[in-house]
Amino acid sequence: MLNNLRIDGGRLWQSLTALARIGATPRGGCCRLALSDEDKAARDLFVSWCRRACCDISVDRLGNIFARRAGRNPDLPPVATGSHLDTQPHGGKFDGAYGVLAGLEVIRTLNDHDIETEAPLEVVVWTNEEGARFAPSMIASGVFAGSYEEDFALACADVDGHTMGEELERIGYAGSEPCGGRIFDAFFEAHIEQGPILEREQKVIGAVTGVQGLRWYDVSVRGQDAHSGSTPMPGRRNALVGAAEMVSAIDALAFESAPDAVATVGQLDVSPNSRNTIPGGVFFTVDLRHPRSEAITEMEDRFRVLFSLIAERRGLESSVEQIAHTPPVMFDPGCVDAVRQASKALGYPSRDILSGAGHDACHLSKVTPTGMIFVPCAGGLSHNEEESAEASDLAAGCNVLLHAVLARAG
Ligand SMILES: [Zn+2]
Repeated sequence: MLNNLRIDGGRLWQSLTALARIGATPRGGCCRLALSDEDKAARDLFVSWCRRACCDISVDRLGNIFARRAGRNPDLPPVATGSHLDTQPHGGKFDGAYGVLAGLEVIRTLNDHDIETEAPLEVVVWTNEEGARFAPSMIASGVFAGSYEEDFALACADVDGHTMGEELERIGYAGSEPCGGRIFDAFFEAHIEQGPILEREQKVIGAVTGVQGLRWYDVSVRGQDAHSGSTPMPGRRNALVGAAEMVSAIDALAFESAPDAVATVGQLDVSPNSRNTIPGGVFFTVDLRHPRSEAITEMEDRFRVLFSLIAERRGLESSVEQIAHTPPVMFDPGCVDAVRQASKALGYPSRDILSGAGHDACHLSKVTPTGMIFVPCAGGLSHNEEESAEASDLAAGCNVLLHAVLARAG
């Protein structure tokens, strides 16, 4: 009988649509910055839906919301699922909201069929996942997992100087419970892929095996400013031409290790940035990602050598500084397999997949067995008002979540 259990895809879609009205933007997206009035309204709506679904609500000091559906055995740690309700300034309707409302739909479905699980279930809303208003991103799940201190997070301020602590008080979501005291049996996060792979391969479900590692570098190249008309080509120390070669070199390096490696130079400042002066200085950034730490180290070693060779050949000096580092995450094999098995049993075309983006699940994986479920999104587009997903795919991901959760919760 349980094998035939399915969520209500229409109700899931309606809930997503209702939530998307809060902070709706003219071009069909959402703007619900963390701890804004819109975030408060979205939280209030979620909490009211959970209360109607007979859940107990608790909120911790960082405003993380835990909606609990009792199990037969209250002593067992709950099986948890969830995501975030905040968005980017030009965000979409599904990033985050889907994972939260898929969790709620699982609970509503179990209520409809009077199914009691052995372990309790919890749907979690993590505060400030996006990091668009308060940096760093994923801060509240980070505190929960012990990666940051509570006081550090509460003191994080937006550009106007409002801290997370003040804003939590203002919107009424500064809870009393310490952040991180809870033990989960497992944590599952359903999410749109935010990339093109599932859609391209016509798969409905991605069983996420892990999240790639990331390193950020600041690079500066120094040459010499000189007159663009009276300085002959030989002997010029043009920092921009050197930097251009470096940008090409790192792009080629990532292509060599494709599809696993990705490298991006997204920011470049030229000095003095004047039409008739040979540029004497360039600053640029490198964003390097790969599923394996050793591979990132190898690429870093290689581009450092390439950069110094390029600099030497052109009479330049260059320096590379690593400014941020997030190691790759491997999800719990049992949780990943629960997602695979559920997809198979439900007959959805699926594949293993790595996440290119960070998620709250990355932090959770440090303290609890964790897995993620990806569903396709149109054109792989996310962090964009035009972000879109098929109702049938969203329902499929929610069905996989239901059965993965049931496999765990008994
Ligand atoms: Zn997200």
